[in-house]
Amino acid sequence: MYRKHQARKRQQQQIAVQRIETLERLAEAKALSGDFALAQRYIQLARNIATRLVVSVPSSVKRRVCRQCGAYLLPGVSSRTRIHRGRIIVYCTQCHAYSRYPLHQKTIRPQTVQPLKDQ
Ligand SMILES: [Zn+2]
Repeated sequence: MYRKHQARKRQQQQIAVQRIETLERLAEAKALSGDFALAQRYIQLARNIATRLVVSVPSSVKRRVCRQCGAYLLPGVSSRTRIHRGRIIVYCTQCHAYSRYPLHQKTIRPQTVQPLKDQ
Protein backbone atom coordinates (compact mmCIF):
# COMPACT_ATOMS: atom_id res chain seq x y z
CA MET A 1 0.00 0.00 0.00
CA TYR A 2 2.73 2.41 0.99
CA ARG A 3 4.89 1.53 -2.01
CA LYS A 4 1.90 2.09 -4.28
CA HIS A 5 1.40 5.51 -2.72
CA GLN A 6 5.06 6.40 -3.27
CA ALA A 7 4.96 5.34 -6.91
CA ARG A 8 1.89 7.46 -7.50
CA LYS A 9 3.43 10.46 -5.77
CA ARG A 10 6.61 10.14 -7.84
CA GLN A 11 4.51 9.99 -11.00
CA GLN A 12 2.66 13.13 -9.95
CA GLN A 13 5.95 14.89 -9.28
CA GLN A 14 7.22 13.99 -12.75
CA ILE A 15 4.07 15.50 -14.26
CA ALA A 16 4.55 18.56 -12.06
CA VAL A 17 8.11 19.06 -13.37
CA GLN A 18 6.82 18.84 -16.95
CA ARG A 19 4.09 21.38 -16.22
CA ILE A 20 6.56 23.76 -14.57
CA GLU A 21 8.81 23.57 -17.66
CA THR A 22 5.84 24.15 -19.97
CA LEU A 23 4.65 27.13 -17.92
CA GLU A 24 8.18 28.55 -17.94
CA ARG A 25 8.28 28.38 -21.74
CA LEU A 26 4.80 29.89 -22.04
CA ALA A 27 5.76 32.69 -19.65
CA GLU A 28 8.81 33.55 -21.73
CA ALA A 29 6.77 33.52 -24.94
CA LYS A 30 4.16 35.83 -23.40
CA ALA A 31 6.80 38.18 -22.00
CA LEU A 32 8.49 38.36 -25.41
CA SER A 33 5.14 39.29 -26.96
CA GLY A 34 4.71 42.01 -24.34
CA ASP A 35 2.11 40.44 -22.03
CA PHE A 36 3.97 40.61 -18.72
CA ALA A 37 0.84 40.15 -16.59
CA LEU A 38 0.17 36.74 -18.14
CA ALA A 39 3.87 35.80 -17.90
CA GLN A 40 3.79 36.65 -14.20
CA ARG A 41 0.64 34.55 -13.78
CA TYR A 42 2.25 31.53 -15.51
CA ILE A 43 5.27 31.75 -13.19
CA GLN A 44 2.92 32.03 -10.21
CA LEU A 45 1.10 28.87 -11.36
CA ALA A 46 4.42 27.05 -11.79
CA ARG A 47 5.44 28.00 -8.26
CA ASN A 48 2.08 26.89 -6.89
CA ILE A 49 2.46 23.50 -8.58
CA ALA A 50 5.98 23.14 -7.14
CA THR A 51 4.71 23.98 -3.66
CA ARG A 52 1.72 21.64 -3.84
CA LEU A 53 3.70 18.61 -5.06
CA VAL A 54 6.91 19.35 -3.10
CA VAL A 55 9.11 19.77 -6.16
CA SER A 56 12.01 22.23 -6.09
CA VAL A 57 11.45 25.32 -8.21
CA PRO A 58 14.17 25.38 -10.91
CA SER A 59 16.72 28.18 -10.56
CA SER A 60 15.80 29.34 -14.07
CA VAL A 61 12.26 30.05 -12.79
CA LYS A 62 13.50 31.69 -9.60
CA ARG A 63 15.73 34.05 -11.57
CA ARG A 64 12.87 35.13 -13.80
CA VAL A 65 10.88 36.67 -10.98
CA CYS A 66 11.75 39.71 -8.89
CA ARG A 67 12.03 38.69 -5.24
CA GLN A 68 10.72 42.05 -4.06
CA CYS A 69 7.70 42.74 -6.29
CA GLY A 70 7.11 39.44 -8.12
CA ALA A 71 7.38 40.99 -11.58
CA TYR A 72 8.50 38.84 -14.51
CA LEU A 73 12.10 39.72 -15.36
CA LEU A 74 12.99 39.73 -19.03
CA PRO A 75 16.61 40.81 -19.46
CA GLY A 76 16.85 44.06 -21.38
CA VAL A 77 13.13 44.80 -21.10
CA SER A 78 11.98 44.55 -17.50
CA SER A 79 15.37 43.91 -15.93
CA ARG A 80 18.99 44.85 -16.36
CA THR A 81 21.76 42.32 -15.79
CA ARG A 82 25.35 43.26 -15.05
CA ILE A 83 28.41 41.44 -13.77
CA HIS A 84 30.37 43.22 -11.05
CA ARG A 85 33.02 41.90 -8.70
CA GLY A 86 32.24 38.25 -9.30
CA ARG A 87 28.50 38.65 -8.90
CA ILE A 88 25.55 38.75 -11.26
CA ILE A 89 23.50 41.83 -10.42
CA VAL A 90 19.91 41.90 -11.66
CA TYR A 91 18.05 45.21 -11.48
CA CYS A 92 14.26 45.20 -11.58
CA THR A 93 12.95 48.15 -13.57
CA GLN A 94 9.52 47.87 -11.91
CA CYS A 95 10.49 48.32 -8.24
CA HIS A 96 14.15 49.39 -8.65
CA ALA A 97 15.41 46.49 -6.54
CA TYR A 98 18.71 44.71 -6.97
CA SER A 99 19.27 40.98 -6.69
CA ARG A 100 22.80 39.63 -6.45
CA TYR A 101 23.95 36.12 -7.21
CA PRO A 102 27.43 34.66 -7.17
CA LEU A 103 28.92 34.31 -10.65
CA HIS A 104 31.06 31.24 -10.08
CA GLN A 105 28.90 28.58 -8.55
CA LYS A 106 27.86 25.27 -10.03
CA THR A 107 24.16 25.62 -9.15
CA ILE A 108 23.64 29.03 -10.75
CA ARG A 109 24.45 28.02 -14.29
CA PRO A 110 21.42 29.29 -16.27
CA GLN A 111 19.34 26.66 -18.00
CA THR A 112 18.43 27.43 -21.56
CA VAL A 113 14.72 27.46 -22.23
CA GLN A 114 13.64 25.62 -25.35
CA PRO A 115 11.39 27.74 -27.55
CA LEU A 116 7.85 26.59 -28.20
CA LYS A 117 7.38 24.58 -31.38
CA ASP A 118 3.92 25.82 -32.30
CA GLN A 119 4.74 29.54 -32.00
ZN1 LIG B 1 10.80 44.19 -8.61
